[in-house]
Amino acid sequence: PVPVLAVVGRPNVGKSTLVNRIIGRREAVVEDRPGVTRDRVSYDASWNGRAFTVVDTGGWDPDARGLAERIAAQAEIAVSLADAVLFVVDATVGITDADEAVVKILRKANKPVVLAANKVDAQHLEGEAYGLWNLGLGEPHPISAAHGRGTGDLLDAVLEAL
Ligand code: GDP
Ligand code: MG
Repeated sequence: PVPVLAVVGRPNVGKSTLVNRIIGRREAVVEDRPGVTRDRVSYDASWNGRAFTVVDTGGWDPDARGLAERIAAQAEIAVSLADAVLFVVDATVGITDADEAVVKILRKANKPVVLAANKVDAQHLEGEAYGLWNLGLGEPHPISAAHGRGTGDLLDAVLEAL
């Protein structure tokens, strides 16, 4: 069976944009409204000749209630079924309480985590990613899911984690 990568993070950090970049299509639902990907959706992907399944999730707000709570439950299921987790943070915003709460859940899940510092659209923004060392999840990989910056190096790290 091919390994499974779950893509998680709070809403609007760019998870679906990154999933599109990874699968090389424009399929995952991306909108300006947060939390648009409601359920977990799986896609076939490959990098350097290795196949894996990538699972987009609907934005993980750990304090969610109602519909948002159901969406968060889908993210939890995605993590439980995954071999590794790609945790996406918006480097231009920095660490929020919601990001910290996701970290707690990921610690409990005890799966390998690769940390993506997204929205680093240009080199002068790379310093923003540095602050994400404070999450305690190891090296933040600065990327721009929208422009493709850094995603090759990120996928190299993903293959090592899978
Ligand atoms: P999700 O809710 O985490 O799946 O986030 P989306 O992929 O739907 O993206 C949320 C918003 O962030 C959209 O307006 C995207 O165009 C934007 N976005 C995603 N990746 C990047 C990026 O690398 N740079 C910038 N500047 N915007 C991005
Ligand atoms: Mg999405």
